[in-house]
Amino acid sequence: MSDSLARGTDHARSMEEKHVTDRRGFTKSCLAAIAATVTGWPQIRLTPRHLLQPPIRVNGPRLNQSLTDLSRFGANPQGGVSRVAYSDADRDARAWIMDLMRAAKLDPRIDLAGNIVARRPGTDASAKPIVFGSHIDSVPEGGNYDGDVGSLSAIEVARTLAERGVVTRHPLEVVIFQNEEGGLVGSRAWIGEVTARDLALTSRSGKTIADGIRFIGGDPTRLAEVRRSPGDIAGYLELHIEQGGTLDREHIPIGVVEGIVGIGWWDVTVTGFANHAGTTPMNERHDALLAAAKFIELVNRTVTSEPGRQVGTVGRIQALPGAPNVIPGQVLLSLELRDLDAAKIERLYQTIAREAERIGTESGTTFTFRETNRQAPALSDPRVRGLIADAAKSLGLATKVLPSGAGHDAQDMARLGPMGMIFVPSVAGVSHAPRELTRPEDVVNGANVLLGSLLQMDRTVA
Ligand SMILES: [Zn+2]
Repeated sequence: MSDSLARGTDHARSMEEKHVTDRRGFTKSCLAAIAATVTGWPQIRLTPRHLLQPPIRVNGPRLNQSLTDLSRFGANPQGGVSRVAYSDADRDARAWIMDLMRAAKLDPRIDLAGNIVARRPGTDASAKPIVFGSHIDSVPEGGNYDGDVGSLSAIEVARTLAERGVVTRHPLEVVIFQNEEGGLVGSRAWIGEVTARDLALTSRSGKTIADGIRFIGGDPTRLAEVRRSPGDIAGYLELHIEQGGTLDREHIPIGVVEGIVGIGWWDVTVTGFANHAGTTPMNERHDALLAAAKFIELVNRTVTSEPGRQVGTVGRIQALPGAPNVIPGQVLLSLELRDLDAAKIERLYQTIAREAERIGTESGTTFTFRETNRQAPALSDPRVRGLIADAAKSLGLATKVLPSGAGHDAQDMARLGPMGMIFVPSVAGVSHAPRELTRPEDVVNGANVLLGSLLQMDRTVA
């Protein structure tokens, strides 16, 4: 144990010392019993010996140095990064990442969708691969942690395994998905959901998705060849920054992601009657904007009227004809609802639509709703959640189960096999901005939990 202590960061060391003190007096069998209870997965092949071996740890300083090195690509004056997919910065960073993978004794290639994939053989040729990774593209004027922490940690984990001579039973695949921020393009290609219409869309780089895929070494005409089917992977793990403030606020180093929320989008049209703002008495108006204002309040009231972590937003509004001296005859609004439970999204929507009709009746307007997008929630696998919680526990790290309000490639991978996500704190919950920050010790904690979860997944999944 002292050997592993010497390798930890100061923070990790103090955490571990606390953990060692806490653990003193526990018997081996007691530990195993706790682990079995925590996982809720009785057939898990945990033994006291596994638990008492000092966990293998990544090289923390090297990992944080690689984050600094990657931040050069697309660095902007605000201190963040603009490395949108298919830009020169993205292409250069990808080349650098492939070199880093080679240093980790990996053999990276670019698949036909433009994802960077490196496979490490396992001892069982018939086993399906365990896939882990993230993305390195950013939003315009984004930060240096979203995607980067998970990508570089995945490579660091592979490098640590190589240095320790650890060979897993399953083949491992480190993946850097392309264009996560522009609609999960790389992971959606793996599940066969990139359409011809998607390929024609213009990405933030100015290139179409099709041209972008060509630019980074893929072939948009052959996407069918990268498609995988359910059961083609043994599991998927992704480490990511939380991007919200829960973990930071509660001083919890590791989040175990319950799932990625589902999203519903609607275009809402309120139709009244445009008329002269000076000559139409107040009681004779069919004011679409006034009805829209009541609608916005309705959305907020409905979403907050029951317990839970559901969120609802009206993010866009346009009044027509849009003149100071004309009563608005039509208003276009957006409605967005998110929750881990698709049935709850539907129920909230039904309530909002019903109550909107009442507002319409009272204000002489009509509401129409058109659904424009519906993404199903993607739940993580309960067994994988247990593995992550165990890995954190063996490192003396507290955990909290929480949903992801943001989309991730992991939601697509959940369609192919058991998925798990690990969150680390985002300072003050800031993300998609230059001030995005995850503390170095939290990055290292996350990578160590990724490593522990991966090894445990290798031992326990088919
Ligand atoms: Zn991300």
